[in-house]
Amino acid sequence: MRVTALAGGFGGARFLAGVVAEGHEVTAVVNTGDDLWLHGLKVCPDLDTVMYTLGGGISAERGWGREGETFAVSGELAAYGFGPAWFGLGDRDLATHLIRTQLLEAGQSLTDVTAALCARWRPGVTLLPMTDDRVETHVVVDDPETGTRHAIHFQEWWVRHRAALPAHAIVPVGAEEAKPTPAVLQAISDAEIVLLPPSNPVVSIGTVLAVPGIRDALLAADARIVGVSPIVGGSPVRGMAAECLTAIGVETSAQGVAAHYGARSAGGLLDGWLVDSSDPCEVEGIAVGALPLLMTDLDATRAIVRAAIAL
Ligand code: GDP
Ligand code: CA
Repeated sequence: MRVTALAGGFGGARFLAGVVAEGHEVTAVVNTGDDLWLHGLKVCPDLDTVMYTLGGGISAERGWGREGETFAVSGELAAYGFGPAWFGLGDRDLATHLIRTQLLEAGQSLTDVTAALCARWRPGVTLLPMTDDRVETHVVVDDPETGTRHAIHFQEWWVRHRAALPAHAIVPVGAEEAKPTPAVLQAISDAEIVLLPPSNPVVSIGTVLAVPGIRDALLAADARIVGVSPIVGGSPVRGMAAECLTAIGVETSAQGVAAHYGARSAGGLLDGWLVDSSDPCEVEGIAVGALPLLMTDLDATRAIVRAAIAL
């Protein structure tokens, strides 16, 4: 089938590997709200996590960055007193950011640059940034030292503070003025099914949906929309999704996330929702399926993909 999926990094990439293995023709619309400029370089963490995972270059142990990575350049920058020390910028990974930045500065769109990088990695999916415009998620927190309320970049909140500073707001800065690319809109209208992987509902899927036009395109699509819960046994499988959900007033449960996305028949997104067998869930207007949702290996992930499509 022609499958279009919205995706963040780790959870999105793992899920997409299962969709590819099932033999579908996949387009992934990836969150770029995690992006940052660092040492003059454009870094796109979620695009790279999907590209490296599906292309066989991801560090299996860390789940981000390259296998066999070294951090000599980061060490040299730190010796000059140039941070941030908390962001892992690997030497191999740097080549990706160098090429991306050069091509962007030569006038290419992020969509075209991503395709150029994928010529090496051959991820087996069409990888699309949600927009070619600059969007960077920021988080409003109280400074732990001064108590002053201010906004910090999502990466600083997530990586440096491990989401431990309570978030007063999570804002995809630039999203309101951003446009979805023609390729994204086409992928949504051409899809035979739209899948929402178990990516973070706030800072991955939520950011993609914050680009004006994407939600409308989904609602107008002929395809059914089926989501997979990132909450298993009442808590996120990995990462700090609970802190993000709390920040937007959504309960951390499969039921809470389903209600947040909403039933398509009631103006929301979902026709179907897959939950783990251990999670109760009932939302009017949404068909619910249950099976083990841990993507422990490719076979388990493929079973989840099959169940989503069957639903
Ligand atoms: P990030 O951008 O790297 O943070 O990755 P995503 O947003 O794509 O995915 C993160 C989400 O994946 C987390 O909220 C986890 O709960 C979810 N997740 C990770 N592993 C699994 C799994 O095995 N099963 C399910 N259902 N969700 C998972
Ligand atoms: Ca991410």
